[in-house]
Formats: sequence, C-alpha cells, structure tokens
Amino acid sequence: MSDHPFKSGLGVPTPAPLAVPTASAAPSMASPSPSPYPLATLPARLLDVRDLSVSLPGPKGTRLQALRHLDLTLDRGESLALIGESGSGKTLTALTLMGLLPPGAEAVGHVALDGQSLLALDEDTWCRWRGRRVAMVFQEPLTALNPLQKILAQVMEPIVLHRLAPDRATARERALAQLARVGLDAAHAQAYPHQLSGGQRQRALIAMALAGEPDLLIADEPTTALDAVLRVQILDLLESLVKERGMGLLLISHDLSLTARRVQRLAVLYGGRLMEQGVATEMLARPLHPYTRALWAARPRLGAGRDQPLQVLPGGVPSLAQVGPGCPFHPRCPLAQARCAVEAPPWTGRLACWEVTE
Ligand code: SF4
Repeated sequence: MSDHPFKSGLGVPTPAPLAVPTASAAPSMASPSPSPYPLATLPARLLDVRDLSVSLPGPKGTRLQALRHLDLTLDRGESLALIGESGSGKTLTALTLMGLLPPGAEAVGHVALDGQSLLALDEDTWCRWRGRRVAMVFQEPLTALNPLQKILAQVMEPIVLHRLAPDRATARERALAQLARVGLDAAHAQAYPHQLSGGQRQRALIAMALAGEPDLLIADEPTTALDAVLRVQILDLLESLVKERGMGLLLISHDLSLTARRVQRLAVLYGGRLMEQGVATEMLARPLHPYTRALWAARPRLGAGRDQPLQVLPGGVPSLAQVGPGCPFHPRCPLAQARCAVEAPPWTGRLACWEVTE
C-alpha cells in the first residue's frame, strides 16, 4: 500500500522531510556508537562471493539449481544493485548472505565477509552477526515486524542486543533518532505495526535494520511500498549512510531505472545466473547483454507521448524446473542461436553471452 503524504495511520501530521545525515547535519541526531571494527584497520573488500551455487529440494528427491556460479564483490563504502525480474534469484542470494536459506537448501562456493566464510558460520556466530555485521530490510514489512511489539521496542532490540548503547535510556534515544531519520516520530514509535500504513511499516523496518549499524546492509526492494517522494528520500538516506559510515549496500530491485543511478555498480541476474555486471554509469551508457538491454529499453521515459506504448519484454522468467543447461534467457532473446539452448556461455567477468562480447 502506498503511503500518501497527507495520510497517517495514527492521525499524526505528515512526517517532516527525512533527516538525511551529512557531515554537518549528523550531530543533530544521536551519535552512532563507535564501530568495534574501525574502518582504517579493515581491508576495503567487505564481501567476496565466488562461484556460489545454491540448490533447493525438488520433487521426488531431485535437486533444483536456483543459483549458478555467482561472482559478486562489494567494498566498504560501495553500493551494488542486484537487478532482475521476480524469480531471477535476487532474494535467494540475499538469504544466502544472511544465513537464512530455507530447510533443505544447499549452498556451495566461497562467500566471505571480511575474509570470514559465511557458509561455515555456526548459528551462535550468526546470532551475533545478523543485524550487526550484516542486516537486511525484508520485502514484506508486515511479516518481518513482530505484530505484538511496539515499533520503538523493535528498533531498540538490535541496539540492546548488540550492546550499542550503555543503557536502555540511550538505546531508546538512538532508536528514536533512527526512526526520525526515516521520517517517523514518537507517535509512530509507540504504535503497533498494524496501526501504521504500508509505507510507515517499511520505514520502520529500514530504521530497525540501520539501528544495528551494520557493515553490510541488504535492502530487498526497500522502496516498493513508498510514494515517489519518500522513495527518493529513502534512497538518499541509504546513499549517505554508505558514504558516511563506509557501509556496504546491496540493493535488490526489479526496477533498473530507479536504482541504477543511485548505486556505483550493477549486477543483472536471470534464471539464477549472472548476465552482466559492471560500473553502473558504464552499463547504462552501453548495456551489452541482451537482457540488460531489454530491461533498460522497457523503462518508462519522461516526455514519451501518451500514445506511445511501453516497450515490454515478451515471455516470462522460467521456473527453476524449466532452466536447462544453456543460457536461461534463450527463449526470450532476440539474438539466440542453437547453441544458446544447450550450452551456457562462460562468465567473462563482465557478461555471459555467446553472441555479444565486450
Ligand atoms: S547466450 Fe544466446 S540466448 Fe543468451 S543472451 Fe547471449 S545470445 Fe541471447
């Protein structure tokens, strides 16, 4: 549900513009607690994913290959958008990075945060890391928030759990400051999730994820429930936190046109495989892969005539059971050749395609 600027689930006035932190504006909010991982002492490379494949249990004891040979890297202070249609493997990638794969899923490959393998972490370590080293803004706030707890208590939880404040009063102050950053006030803080609109819940979830001051923030479609103005403000906020805190941001989106200009790098996924990856500005100026080109061509354009139909990509994303050994995009690709259906193109570091080269 969209969060209309003149509507509030609590009957409180329209929230003030988001407090986007800048070097000079930050002191007006509760100062973040010092990170136990000072930036200067840490390597630049935050996340290193190499040759990651994930399979899920299928019918009659079979295995379905959901992700294949993914390579991703993310440095501190860097933002990367994972782009693709629903069903392309974006959320499963995020769940792998959060140690939240569904029962029966198997991940193989190399996935490291600050050099430490995430695939080998035990649950005790995950409990200390989740929310602190790596946090996620989930796609559906109503199921991600606890319906029986007020918003303030939920935003305070990571601060208390990870001992980011010396006492509860300070934790409360910091939680309120995080809520203010996303445009929610004291009245919203005292509400239960069902008393807020969809957009307000989404913002509460973002505040909760930021409250743990994570090194890596994974945001899965964080702005879909928001109206256009809030969408821009939330993206501004995330962008500034990447710069201010040296946080790594993995933004998951199906909307290439919205996110592409807000991140430094793009990775395009389809059928569980990487199609193209690179510096965002370069990829937008010259998208190479036929799937990236099709996504870019399908964006709505300002100034397009009313009668001009939106360009659409015919066909749909294949189900896991339908993805064969070849290039998963071949049934929809205008450049497909016979071998595309039977043999997957190798990943060059920039793209995977038999017909297009760098
Ligand atoms: S490998 Fe073939 S089907 Fe896949 S994108 Fe390239 S041309 Fe199209």
